[in-house]
Amino acid sequence: MTIPYRIGLGHDTHRLGNGGPLRIGGINVPAEIHSIGHSDADVLLHAITDALLGAITAPDIGRLFSDTAEENRGRDSADFLIEAVRRVRAAGFEIGNLDCVILAQQPKFASHIDTMRARIAEIMDISVDDVGLKAKTGEGVDAVGHAEAIAARCVVLIHRSAVA
Ligand code: MG
Repeated sequence: MTIPYRIGLGHDTHRLGNGGPLRIGGINVPAEIHSIGHSDADVLLHAITDALLGAITAPDIGRLFSDTAEENRGRDSADFLIEAVRRVRAAGFEIGNLDCVILAQQPKFASHIDTMRARIAEIMDISVDDVGLKAKTGEGVDAVGHAEAIAARCVVLIHRSAVA
């Protein structure tokens, strides 16, 4: 018998440019840097989207939403996440919980973590208690530590929906 749970893993990286704000977790965080990308370049929502798609072995975000398509230029990444959640539920699953890490040398995220958690929960239509999020610096080394890039990772657990 197939177990009623599946897990998914998502990872994303974006280059950074000078000047804020930083779009991440569905909100604009005051910062002196911004994330560079074709859409709104929200690295965290991209990682969560890929974790969900991975859990149902769907094509990844880059295959579903082309980074050369005009319709995706500057697009709110909440749209990608909403589609991933729709696919998870259409496949007969409900979201258990997710846990995420932002990897960035700057800015300080502590005062924005709960705002991002609330926005992610809202987009996904789940409880904020099911959204784990923390931020780590790159300790001054590698592309993250040198503030050349920002990255995010997410793991998600989904479970089969109760049959009425
Ligand atoms: Mg991305």
